[in-house]
Amino acid sequence: MKKYSLVIHGGAGTLLKGLMTPEKEEQYKAALNEALEKGYAVLENGGSALDAVETSVNHLENSPLFNAGRGSVFTNEGTHEMDAAIMDGSNLKAGAVSLITGIKNPISLARDVMDKSDHVFLAGEGAMRFAKSLDYTLEKPEYFYDEHRYQQWQNIKDSDKFELDHSMKKEGKFGTVGAVACDQNGNIAAATSTGGMTNKKWGRIGDSPMIGAGNYANNKTCAVSCTGSGEYFIRGVVAYDVSCLMEYKGMALADAASEVINKRVLEIGGDGGLIAVDAKGNIAMTFNTEGMYRGFKTSEGEKEIGIYKN
Ligand code: ASP
Repeated sequence: MKKYSLVIHGGAGTLLKGLMTPEKEEQYKAALNEALEKGYAVLENGGSALDAVETSVNHLENSPLFNAGRGSVFTNEGTHEMDAAIMDGSNLKAGAVSLITGIKNPISLARDVMDKSDHVFLAGEGAMRFAKSLDYTLEKPEYFYDEHRYQQWQNIKDSDKFELDHSMKKEGKFGTVGAVACDQNGNIAAATSTGGMTNKKWGRIGDSPMIGAGNYANNKTCAVSCTGSGEYFIRGVVAYDVSCLMEYKGMALADAASEVINKRVLEIGGDGGLIAVDAKGNIAMTFNTEGMYRGFKTSEGEKEIGIYKN
């Protein structure tokens, strides 16, 4: 049977082993494992890569541990503005939302933009009106309140700094979330969801909802979901760059991912990582930071959940 596989991430950054308690580490691993198994079950039952990545990301969004959905970081105004994108590699259809508030699962709204509107990318008030037209219920701000993230924001709120959720060299809660999958039919898909960066201002949008920057899928090449300093990932058009290296230069998935993350992104000063699959079920998990919350499972019995560099 054709190989199928799923890879997820919960953000990359300065994840230092000594700064994490064993209990915390277990919590992260358990949350990653649950999201991985739920998404993998979709593939195992013959479901699509698209459904699998949405399922995994929904689980990560529902966990307060990650910077997406429930665990989203605070903006400069003390609110939560979330971004998400999803893409189907079999037909290059995509949906994305940005600057949305109160939505429990931004990735599902992005999917609805793809499936139920004539558009690809909706932002702010308009995206909220679209959600309302589909009878989405809104969560109250308390749902997204997290003491630790509130403190992260308090520490820098009177400054011009904005901060990657996972860049602090102290015990913390990290991470944008994402998933990529290759299903039994050889179709691939990518999904990415985030609260962005702590203390972000003025309607700042990161790479995550931008097709080609933080998220991309094309059956001909790869499906990619990124995490890291979004401004650099936008300028490097990172996800599409991996795809281009495969398409135009004939590079293998892992080589293309490494060229972009360990060379091109570093050269412009960016830090972060990505997860990727190709239509043969090969996977890559590449990062230029101390660690990346991550996990993968394939139909050939391989499975791994990781946080730090090996
Ligand atoms: N890339 C995300 C952003 O810039 C942040 C992250 O990966 O945590 O919005």
